[in-house]
Amino acid sequence: MEKIKMNTPLVEMDGDEMTRILWKIIKDELIYPYIDLKSVYYDLGLENRNATNDQVTIDSANANKKYGVAVKCATITPNAARMTEYNLKEMWKSPNGTIRAILDGTVFRTPITVKGIEPYVRSWKKPITIARHAYGDVYKNAEIDVPGPGKAELVFTGSDGSEIREPIFEFKGPGVLQGMHNLDSSIESFARSCFNYALDTKQELWFASKDTISKKYDHTFKDIFQEIFDAEYKEKFDAAGITYFYTLIDDAVARVMKSEGGFIWACKNYDGDVMSDMVSSAFGSLAMMTSVLVSPDGNYEYEAAHGTVQRHYYKHLKGEETSTNSVATIFAWTGALRKRGELDGIAALEQFADHMEQAVISTIESGKMTKDLALITSLEHVTVLNSEEFIKAVREAYDAICAKG
Ligand code: NAP
Ligand code: MG
Repeated sequence: MEKIKMNTPLVEMDGDEMTRILWKIIKDELIYPYIDLKSVYYDLGLENRNATNDQVTIDSANANKKYGVAVKCATITPNAARMTEYNLKEMWKSPNGTIRAILDGTVFRTPITVKGIEPYVRSWKKPITIARHAYGDVYKNAEIDVPGPGKAELVFTGSDGSEIREPIFEFKGPGVLQGMHNLDSSIESFARSCFNYALDTKQELWFASKDTISKKYDHTFKDIFQEIFDAEYKEKFDAAGITYFYTLIDDAVARVMKSEGGFIWACKNYDGDVMSDMVSSAFGSLAMMTSVLVSPDGNYEYEAAHGTVQRHYYKHLKGEETSTNSVATIFAWTGALRKRGELDGIAALEQFADHMEQAVISTIESGKMTKDLALITSLEHVTVLNSEEFIKAVREAYDAICAKG
């Protein structure tokens, strides 16, 4: 069979540990045999980030901006233990944080659903996508341990010297204080990324905050979303037959639990942190969660939501067999290739992505899966495959789909 040709290269960001091992097998078994892959390769493995003083991460993000679509392998975010393990010059920042800051994007996380891995919430029939605002709030806060009695105030000093003061509390004894911020520009980007992604995937968009209690802070989020929706997106949503819907966060949680799924749930930073873990575990497995960073000007970076699966990597290094789930990493590749196909008008690439995803799903539904899924499946006759066997089984399923035409 002739390999599918590409016009514009994909930005490829390689990574660390077990996912780096899977990365190579996926390319050798599922990509190279079928696609004449054009990619610009960046090695974001921790050794190379250290060797380039993390310049490689910045270069890869700029390439993502230039070419539009990237696929990323999971990477180590260094901590104290990694400093000694990799003999690092510095505790380099999270690559995802760096890329997100350069692309100014929002992260959308969607579970991959298959028969045999049932959501714990009975009403959920379709995936729920969480869009998490990735800037500010409690993640960039300032805190004080209040030692004893005294007055707490919120003070803003304008660059012209003007001052705004707001009393917070008169402490009679010890306590705690917290100050946080966000930016109109960041909230606007978040809103546009969400509206664009809803149009892209033809799904409803929900957004929630606590504007009844937080009459300035959360209310600003609500207002910005509504203003941008009315001015720029209302007509496009009508044409696509989808809706935008705002409600209070507690009402949203209640509705989500009773819903069928099949929508995007936009969350403020903290809500998104908490709710994405809830949604992914309720759908079954972190190893079945995809993630895409979408910038407001239409650049995309696809990856798996899980990390480098360190524990499996150490087993692999000792020569022991692993059964690591490659599904989310395969879907990162198909997501990126489908988007490349869409942008460049290459139908064969989009079809490749559809068929490869079908191959993954039919492999699992036929009872062949990795150990993590075997532990939670409701299917009865299950064959547990090792990391490489699973990918090879997907290749067989893909060939069978293509043979059928
Ligand atoms: P992790 O790599 O997601 O793994 C946590 C545990 O979840 C694993 O030990 C494994 O459980 C299970 N698991 C996750 N993905 C799996 C898969 N594909 N197949 C089978 N089981 C899977 O998280 P972590 O161990 O906390 O972090 C490891 C490294 O990843 C850290 O250095 C962290 O900085 C990095 N990280 C990177 C990203 C990213 O690049 N986007 C995201 C998160 C973490 P069992 O051990 O019980 O089998
Ligand atoms: Mg979290």
